[in-house]
Amino acid sequence: VRARTIRVETAPAYDVRVGPGLLADVDAATSSYSARAIVTDENVAPLYLGKLRASAWAAHVTVPPGEDSKSLVVVEHVLDFLVESGLDRRSCVVALGGGVVGDVAGLAASLYMRGIACVHVPTTLLAQVDSSVGGKTAVNLGRGKNLAGTFHQPALVLADTTTLATLPDDELRSGLGEVVKTALLDGEEALAELEARAEALVARDADALADVVARCVRLKASIVARDPREANERKALNLGHTFAHGIEHAAGYGAVPHGVAVAVGLVLALRAGIELGVTRDAALVERVEALHARLGLPRSLAELSQRHAVRLDDPRDLIVGMLHDKKGAAGAPRFVLLEAPGRWRIDVAAPAGALERWLA
Ligand code: ADP
Ligand code: ZN
Repeated sequence: VRARTIRVETAPAYDVRVGPGLLADVDAATSSYSARAIVTDENVAPLYLGKLRASAWAAHVTVPPGEDSKSLVVVEHVLDFLVESGLDRRSCVVALGGGVVGDVAGLAASLYMRGIACVHVPTTLLAQVDSSVGGKTAVNLGRGKNLAGTFHQPALVLADTTTLATLPDDELRSGLGEVVKTALLDGEEALAELEARAEALVARDADALADVVARCVRLKASIVARDPREANERKALNLGHTFAHGIEHAAGYGAVPHGVAVAVGLVLALRAGIELGVTRDAALVERVEALHARLGLPRSLAELSQRHAVRLDDPRDLIVGMLHDKKGAAGAPRFVLLEAPGRWRIDVAAPAGALERWLA
């Protein structure tokens, strides 16, 4: 397997490189900056910091792993570290870790001296296929998730697929949920590739992972280039997410990995689409359920609640979370639905009483 390069044509444009062994390239790829500083977490540091040859060229700071680190307090701590490390406007922040590290480091980089370069080195499948590309950064506030953030496109993304070998199974599955989402948005060819390689992905086959990550990045790059600020088309990337936010809220944030909630959200969105006459191929839902089963993903609220020991049997709990979804205009949740693989419809409102039915 060799590394591939995908260009993201935002302003400014940047490259996403995907493949095995890219950790070894981080040093050279960032050597022209006046100074570099690494942000990582306590799980990733012992595994991969040494592979960047970090001690030789940059200071680092570790944040505690997990969603609780997505806070303004942690961002301030990182900003203090950037000052102490002597970074100036020509310096760069290197984000080494999953989506949490990417959000915290990306937000700190976008604030420090009104914005300096951020190089993302994503080490989770979810961060490689989704969150490291597109320039969204955010932390949580007491009143809700991702309420404080910026758009700050990275200077470069280096997705080393060998880092996925050490990922916990739950985190791999979480990434696979976003992979299925991306394939459904991409189209028939991407979906068929995923179906052909489901077992290889679960076995963490190096070729399969690199191919699938690269394909997901290509689709996300093209959507983000056309709509960087999520005015329209980029909303499609929220397929399954209105339901997922309901699930995450009802289960208690952190109880279910995000991408696993998205996986169930995809099935619910397809069922909703069939009921509303938007999804024309009724067999698509069975096809996705079969794929989920092979990828180790739950296919229903019942299966999810059983596996993660959470209660999801009261639709009202989920609806509260869906109403909190900040993308819903004026309190009414909006859905992305699929007409067919590769053909989506955004901003669909649910008819009265439909939510209760879909979640029952
Ligand atoms: P996400 O990327 O899904 O948003 P996080 O940033 O919270 O998630 O990372 C998920 C968990 O996986 C964290 O505990 C993190 O420390 C850990 N982690 C990240 N990358 C790796 C890796 N390559 N190997 C092992 N654990 C990892
Ligand atoms: Zn997501």
